[in-house]
Amino acid sequence: MISADMHMHTLYSHGKNTPLEMYEQALSLGLHLVGFTEHSPRPEGFTYTHEYRESLTRNLPRYVQEVLALRDAPRRGSGGELCRVAFGMEMDWLSGEEEFAKQAAHAYPFDYRIGSVHFIDHWGFDDGIGPWKDASQEECEQWYTAYFTAWQAMLASGLYQIAAHPDLIKIFSVDQFHIWLDSDSARTLLGRALDTLKAQGMVMEVSSAGLRKKCREIYPCPAIMHMARVRDIPISFASDAHERGDIAYAFDALAAYAATFGYTEHAFFSDGRMTSVPFAL
Ligand SMILES: [Zn+2]
Ligand SMILES: [Zn+2]
Repeated sequence: MISADMHMHTLYSHGKNTPLEMYEQALSLGLHLVGFTEHSPRPEGFTYTHEYRESLTRNLPRYVQEVLALRDAPRRGSGGELCRVAFGMEMDWLSGEEEFAKQAAHAYPFDYRIGSVHFIDHWGFDDGIGPWKDASQEECEQWYTAYFTAWQAMLASGLYQIAAHPDLIKIFSVDQFHIWLDSDSARTLLGRALDTLKAQGMVMEVSSAGLRKKCREIYPCPAIMHMARVRDIPISFASDAHERGDIAYAFDALAAYAATFGYTEHAFFSDGRMTSVPFAL
């Protein structure tokens, strides 16, 4: 069993449940640790179709207060084990907004921060299938290259502890993505990024969110898992839950998947430091 889910959202962004409701679900599942990683509000100009910037900004102090209250008073779940809480945030790496990212990273005393790329320039590429629908292989490859170039800069920034959904860019074009990933230039770009991730002492997220998306594939794909494993990069597990029913989603499948690459431990952050523990199949 995987005992920690390190990535989840609440109704303060575009999720459906309160921190308490999410926590109670984690308790009932017997998790030992939940990491709350609500989105960090993005600056103007980086906007999704169903934008939640205003309500998130307004409710952020409330999110912080509620998560810290849960962290300060952990409860015992059905198996009698304490279910601890880690206070985190998922932060966007946005081109030209490095100062904004630095300020956001230090806005609160986080236990850990997740770094994510959801935007290529000002385009939220995971917002809908839109431009992906009729994109040529060549166009897709330009976007993959732009994505991993931004990912590399995010990793190099030193602001984050976990790299979220490493190949999120495949979300609407998984077949084209795998064609690209077979190329020497893609492997070179990925290899450099993973070297940076390792050098920064970061953890790579293995996420079941991709199984719920159009790509129907765990983030990251096997080739990237293998590249991470040979570099001895630690991994954390994540559901990226946006409602309580998604907490620990397909974690049995994640554990089996990670084990096929030789992984036996998963990492998490609490009290501001990283711990690795074995996971069971
Ligand atoms: Zn994300
Ligand atoms: Zn997320």
